[in-house]
Amino acid sequence: MKLAFLGLGNMGHGMAHNLLKSGHQLTVWNRSKGKAADLVKAGAKEANTPAEAVRDAEAVFTMVADDHAIEEIVFGDNGMLGALPRGAVHISSSTISVAMSKRLQESHQKHNQEYLSAPVFGRPDAAAAAKLWVVVAGPNDLVEKYKPLLSTIGQQTFVMGNEPPMANVVKLSGNFMIATVIESFAEALTLVRKYGVDPKQYVEMLTTSLFNTPLYKNYTRLIVDQKFEPAGFKLTLGLKDVRLALAAGEGVSVPLPIASLLRDHFLEAVANGMADKDWTAMSQVAAMNAGLK
Ligand code: NAP
Repeated sequence: MKLAFLGLGNMGHGMAHNLLKSGHQLTVWNRSKGKAADLVKAGAKEANTPAEAVRDAEAVFTMVADDHAIEEIVFGDNGMLGALPRGAVHISSSTISVAMSKRLQESHQKHNQEYLSAPVFGRPDAAAAAKLWVVVAGPNDLVEKYKPLLSTIGQQTFVMGNEPPMANVVKLSGNFMIATVIESFAEALTLVRKYGVDPKQYVEMLTTSLFNTPLYKNYTRLIVDQKFEPAGFKLTLGLKDVRLALAAGEGVSVPLPIASLLRDHFLEAVANGMADKDWTAMSQVAAMNAGLK
């Protein structure tokens, strides 16, 4: 299949690589140059603009930071909207707002193009290993047609409905829950530290008993080891997702009081110089508020 991939950041790079490895013809584009070198070596073409990248594509994946980035690469000068062929599909994997997903759905429809929302769970190592969990929503026939393609980037694909924004709200709800794990573990850890408990022993006890799941194992280890750099998922992206969850809630009158608190703690982390660290660095806020270093 002729594919294009826009956005070669921490996640996109590995995803693009897996599409290439499974034998597709791939054209890639990234805003700043230099990130495509090894993909080009492995057989991909590099385009100068999003429009140029998608001109012959049957399917284009986008994996960029946020709504603003999508605005630029889809609707901006040299954006993909006017260049993607009729009948081709845009598979949007970035974590974006429900409102932007709706706008993409309507805009592609007007241009006789297809649109699937397929955000993902899993960090950059999972993206590189094709072990992502893909959450997809869109018209049934389209989902069925592109499921095999989605299986080249992930270990499992979950179909969440036939309206693309449904996948986006599922993704935002999931990241909201992960953020609550960071917060609740940070508070619990701060408490036991103040009583002199060894953090590593504490994590060992929790994650071999009641909290024996990959999420708790990975996140508590990052927090206890204070391994916040290099960022697998930047703290500012975490803040973005909590804001998007709040906006999605506001749109349908769903209060999310814990998300409001999380938003403030992410902001406090940004104000204390942690913007570019991994989002698990937000755990430091609970420690700081309790007078711990
Ligand atoms: P990242 O490493 O920061 O990469 C961001 C990508 O977006 C880069 O390619 C960047 O281009 C591009 N970009 C940013 N602003 C742009 C703009 N205005 N115009 C065009 N391109 C722009 O982020 P990431 O971790 O790969 O995350 C990408 C998306 O996946 C985000 O929506 C994130 O929430 C989501 N996600 C991340 C993870 C994770 O664990 N990291 C997991 C699941 C989902 P440059 O290279 O030029 O900066």
